Amino acid sequence: MSLDHSVNDLSHVTEADRAHVWHHLSQHKQYETVDPRIFVEGKGLRLWDAKGREYIDAVSGGVWTVNVGYGRESIANAVRDQLVKLNYYAGAAGTVPGALFAEKLIEKMPGLTRVYYSNSGSEANEKVYKMVRQISHRHHGGKKSKILFRERDYHGTTIATLATSGQFQRAEQYGPFPEGFVIVPHCLEYRAQWDVADYGRRAADAIEEVILREGPDTIGALVLEPITAGGGVIVPPEGYWPRVQEICRQYDILLHIDEVVCGLGRTGTWFGYQHYGIEPDFVTMAKGVASGYAAISCTVTTERVFNLFKDDASDPLGYFRDISTFGGCTAGPTAALENMRIIEEEGLLENTRLMGERCLANLRALMDRHAVIGDVRGKGLFLGVELVADRTTREPLPEKQVQAVVAECLAQGVIIGATNRSIPGLNNTLCLSPALIVTAEEIDTITGAIDVALTRICG
Ligand code: PMP
Repeated sequence: MSLDHSVNDLSHVTEADRAHVWHHLSQHKQYETVDPRIFVEGKGLRLWDAKGREYIDAVSGGVWTVNVGYGRESIANAVRDQLVKLNYYAGAAGTVPGALFAEKLIEKMPGLTRVYYSNSGSEANEKVYKMVRQISHRHHGGKKSKILFRERDYHGTTIATLATSGQFQRAEQYGPFPEGFVIVPHCLEYRAQWDVADYGRRAADAIEEVILREGPDTIGALVLEPITAGGGVIVPPEGYWPRVQEICRQYDILLHIDEVVCGLGRTGTWFGYQHYGIEPDFVTMAKGVASGYAAISCTVTTERVFNLFKDDASDPLGYFRDISTFGGCTAGPTAALENMRIIEEEGLLENTRLMGERCLANLRALMDRHAVIGDVRGKGLFLGVELVADRTTREPLPEKQVQAVVAECLAQGVIIGATNRSIPGLNNTLCLSPALIVTAEEIDTITGAIDVALTRICG
């Protein structure tokens, strides 16, 4: 299928973009010699750019977002109907889609009861940091204010969330940062920091060591990605999560799971933490919540935490003194409700598990033919391929070559991603995260393009 874009003057659009748009995460010098890529239309996993080129998008909008695929008329129609009825009211009041989406979401999150709306993953995470700080002031006399975060995890782009970036290159140049954020070691066994058999438990014990060093009464919360995304698609080893939960309970530390990438089906369950039987105190989500059809993020917590903000109604400063203006937009929860309906009715969690297994098997088969593949890992449709210059020493393939593999896939019409200027010396993992509707044929096309690209770039 190819779309007819002749009605639009797309060369003008390209010039307008070149002249006036400041692209995210982009060095603009390149646009003095090449055109910025402008996407015009999408359907399912397919995208078309302003030059009429067709692509298979294996990264759901570049950053794990368009979980149910492009061109969903039912979401557009639901949002349209809601917008003409009521587009907005500030979040101090309720709206119909806000209430109904919260109810539906909570159905899938046993143990959690409250949904706080905002617009981006960064914001959802920063709401937790604010809640933790307020709990510290009101309930712990200023103690338990520190927040632990982990190497290689990422939680957002604002100054406070960057202060919890385990991807150091992202935070570089944006300090000074606020105080009270403390790093713990990562848990990627392929890049092991301890030579032990029970690696998961050992990596979790390393968190306890930091807690004991800092003093348990200084630590309020621990934020972790259930499976690390941009830090290299890190699936925690066996034994890691139960021990983390145990440590949090032992030291009365609130456990905050950042589901901004894993949330809403990406790993084959509604949420990534649900693979591990964890009982979090906070869960944050954004990208896949409405698959990019509207901006929405959620901070979800327990009744226990919620009650800490209403137990003393006589205190005029006792409630959570926070607002997110666009957290009152109705487009977000309307799109999110329809997004969830689609995931359920089309059996997309199951498809994610099946297609994820197929993709993993295809990628593992490529290891026989490409010595440059050091490790293949992932869960559901959330997969990483770590590239190495030498399999024995595990020396990472240089970032330039990794990016050349990505560019070679693009030349074949397949958009994949790679960890990118985030961890010094370790930006060497290809990332795959197609929409949850991906077919077996599309999986084979995607892994086939990687096969060809690795042969062309790495020999
Ligand atoms: N948490 C994680 C795990 C993420 O990957 C991201 C974005 N890549 C964020 C938080 C921040 O989300 P946003 O860009 O919507 O602020």
